[in-house]
Amino acid sequence: MATGEFELIDNYFTHRLPERDDVIIGIGDDGAVLDVPAGFQLVVVTDTLVENVHFDRQTSARALGHKAVAVNLSDLAAMGAEPTWISLALTLPHSDDEWLNSFSHGLREICDYFNCQLVGGDTTRGPLTITVTAHGVVPKGKAIQRRGAKPGDWLYVSHSLGDAGLALASQKHQVNISSEHFRQVSERLHFPTPRVALGQALRDVASSAIDISDGLLADLGHILRASQVGAVISLEEIPLSLAMTESVSQEQALRYALTSGDDYELCFTVSEDQRGVFDTKLATLGCKPVCIGRITGQAEKIELKLAGEPWQFELPQTGYQHFREPLEAS
Ligand SMILES: [Mg+2]
Repeated sequence: MATGEFELIDNYFTHRLPERDDVIIGIGDDGAVLDVPAGFQLVVVTDTLVENVHFDRQTSARALGHKAVAVNLSDLAAMGAEPTWISLALTLPHSDDEWLNSFSHGLREICDYFNCQLVGGDTTRGPLTITVTAHGVVPKGKAIQRRGAKPGDWLYVSHSLGDAGLALASQKHQVNISSEHFRQVSERLHFPTPRVALGQALRDVASSAIDISDGLLADLGHILRASQVGAVISLEEIPLSLAMTESVSQEQALRYALTSGDDYELCFTVSEDQRGVFDTKLATLGCKPVCIGRITGQAEKIELKLAGEPWQFELPQTGYQHFREPLEAS
């Protein structure tokens, strides 16, 4: 990309962003120099959005700016980390003033909200691709991992599931929903809320955690594999939005909740011993995670129950594009 264009793009990102005291050298040098507070560890995550893979041409630039950051902050939340800095690698087919204005607006809004500073970046010419690397800090030894779940632990999700999948299906005309419901679920697809405060509250409380990016079954599967445990899920406990329950049958709603991607909610486990502490912490947070089941000793097996009865579940052959994990559903 010509120098003039790079400078143009650079202008969108070097101004009007939060400025943190721990950024010693930010954008403008060959690298950023950052202070990690004493007693903390650095957590680094990265995620890429590619046009026609993760989003289509109709997706607004503002939504992409938001989502490129949100999906990374969601990973930090799952680790119990506090977001601090991000860097951005942006590949654009051409320099488009209006697009960049809107994209940087979306990016800035979420960075402002979570006090996360952009400290570096790169722009190149090519098919539209957005890579964000996010950094966060966590007190030494307190990062939450996938591997700590134990039989008997309670299984939680942070919020209602499946809305993003319903939005995508509606966008593809696979399902008919009202325009108001479409507006609501589209908001969740394009502007996901990373559960950053909850993630930090789960340090010392959750025995394992993951963020749900590829569907509950697939992501819970990662916890079960890492922890060598199983899970039983009471399907009627899975939180569903009103937009979901008013738009599709219970069976279809559960399919979205279990297998569609892009929810960016947290899935985590809490031991019986920690449950009281957890409830107390939650009271101050203003969010209400829902207990949907329990961890079992049967390694990597997920049992789905509806009103106490085993639920027969066949995987959709043409499911969400990210849905590639083999399942252990029985
Ligand atoms: Mg993740």
